[in-house]
Amino acid sequence: MFEIRGLRSTIEGKEILKGFDLSIQGGQVHAIMGPNGTGKSTLASSIMGHPKYEVTEGEVYLEGDNVLEMGVDERARAGLFLAMQYPSEIAGVTNADFLRSAINVRRGEGREISLIKFIRLMEARMKELDMSFEFMHRYLNEGFSGGEKKRNEILQMMMLEPKLVILDEIDSGLDIDALKIVAAGVNAMRDKERSFLIITHYQRLLNYIRPDFVHVMMQGRIVKSGGPELAERLEAEGYDWVKEELGIAD
Ligand code: ADP
Ligand code: MG
Ligand code: MG
Repeated sequence: MFEIRGLRSTIEGKEILKGFDLSIQGGQVHAIMGPNGTGKSTLASSIMGHPKYEVTEGEVYLEGDNVLEMGVDERARAGLFLAMQYPSEIAGVTNADFLRSAINVRRGEGREISLIKFIRLMEARMKELDMSFEFMHRYLNEGFSGGEKKRNEILQMMMLEPKLVILDEIDSGLDIDALKIVAAGVNAMRDKERSFLIITHYQRLLNYIRPDFVHVMMQGRIVKSGGPELAERLEAEGYDWVKEELGIAD
């Protein structure tokens, strides 16, 4: 369903991704854990086509289509979605306006959602996420707390119904109640076709969103893969044992 092969990516001339490989089948949930600065967000941004990152080598395929040849809008239309670690604030654009145009990009020309349908859908999803309807009319992420931004990212995910969902540290800055709500939102979207790539620093999130596979990322590539038990060991023992096992220096 989703395939990354030998991906190399640089930012400001510095190579961050150094041959990243990953293959995700439809319906699977993969978690990527790794120390800070190891390139997790770079991976997410490179897949989405963020202009700051230059992909120098490798391939990315979504259902056989070459993602790296697509423009940013095209990637969203194809069904890629990223919930960002630090969502941007956009003054002057309301949450509802932003969401509606994002949905229409995803749906494509001639298939735009009607205003009535959009509002109904948005209100239903906001209820699920325990969000106040006032957030519809607020400027995108402006003055939102950390937790509100993360809920809003999940709202976008639910509305856009992507094929591949990338969550970049969706758990950071969330208290336990908000984490449960966010996880329930994600779990409600799990189905046999939709796949998830969950980037997290902490195992805690994975208690609520159970992954099929856990990968350890270090120095720009996956260095170890396993099941949920791998996340538990990382939580208990940190990353040093992985480095020792693989002979990786800091
Ligand atoms: P992670 O998400 O795993 O914490 P990142 O992908 O954010 O790691 O960062 C990987 C490396 O790229 C780090 O060394 C970081 O300093 C560098 N980096 C990230 N963003 C930028 C940027 N905008 N300019 C320069 N270096 C960056
Ligand atoms: Mg980080
Ligand atoms: Mg990051």
